[in-house]
Amino acid sequence: MKTTDPGDAARVELLLAELRLPAAKLVWASLSAQADKEGWPAGRFLAALAEHEIAERSRRRLERHLAEARLPPGKTLDTFDFEAVPVISKAQVMALAAGDAWVNNGANLLLFGPPGGGKSHLAAALGFALVENGWRVLFTRTTDLVQRLQIARRELALEAAIAKLDKFHLLILDDLAYVTKDQAETSVLFELISARYERRSLLITANQPFGEWGKVFPDQAMTVAVVDRLVHHATIFEMNVESYRRRAALNAREAAAGRPPTRQSQRTPDRRAATFKTSFALARQSRRDNYDSAAMPDSHPDCRWLPIQIAALQINCVPHSRSQSTKISIGSGS
Ligand code: ADP
Ligand code: MG
Repeated sequence: MKTTDPGDAARVELLLAELRLPAAKLVWASLSAQADKEGWPAGRFLAALAEHEIAERSRRRLERHLAEARLPPGKTLDTFDFEAVPVISKAQVMALAAGDAWVNNGANLLLFGPPGGGKSHLAAALGFALVENGWRVLFTRTTDLVQRLQIARRELALEAAIAKLDKFHLLILDDLAYVTKDQAETSVLFELISARYERRSLLITANQPFGEWGKVFPDQAMTVAVVDRLVHHATIFEMNVESYRRRAALNAREAAAGRPPTRQSQRTPDRRAATFKTSFALARQSRRDNYDSAAMPDSHPDCRWLPIQIAALQINCVPHSRSQSTKISIGSGS
């Protein structure tokens, strides 16, 4: 059995360091000893070494991308109870988690619903799955990001700050509706949304349906422009369920009292949820009333959610060109 010459071994160490192959540098000696012992052909040894370097690189990349994503810990699809949100299709969520179609096209995902319904959890879980699938993601509370962008604006560096966020294929803006109604704040948000339009994806969670966004953005024109851009290529989930926390507390109380959880405590929507339900039901009805598919046979597939009328907001989406064909009016809800 041939073994590596000590002179060659020293050269290999130096060369692998020079080539910046740290993982190969760590294992080549034991791998080559195994190859010598088992009589591997040279090609097999080289392939095993290269594979090891590549596997280590992707492990380090994943670690880096998970750290930069700043996802809340423990919120994964595995820990998400889909039965608690029967309005959401698990299959659709799993397809979104792969990312390819929508993230590649810079499409958006919007999660609406009352507090505690699992919007942030689902958003973080999707973010986690996308990072695992090789995408770069940033999870942030909308107010935090808005503050950072405001500072950048004051330093005349807003454009650069927004451009820097381009490295993230998906930006998760949690709790959009918590942004206060202030011209400076919301206009940076508007600029961010405009800059990413049709290029980079956004996932937005909000307690308020579109009709209430007039409270977030300072004027009607800006609200219309924001919603118009967001919904043009978007999937919208309406998570009209009772607070998961409240339900869990109720179940715990019933368990302590020796009773099995009732259907009532599992499923009854709270008042906020009921309000949401009503407003979205109205929206759906109105969508059905307004939408004449025969008149728009070649509607863009991304307009499958449109026209949507949610609370006081009405959007009509007809084929393809946003600027020509999407008409939005606020305050005309019926
Ligand atoms: P929201 O963002 O809609 O206000 P969260 O995502 O913060 O709600 O959910 C509140 C808490 O309940 C979190 O701890 C979350 O992990 C948990 N939770 C909510 N919905 C679910 C669910 N369907 N499965 C598992 N945990 C859930
Ligand atoms: Mg939340």
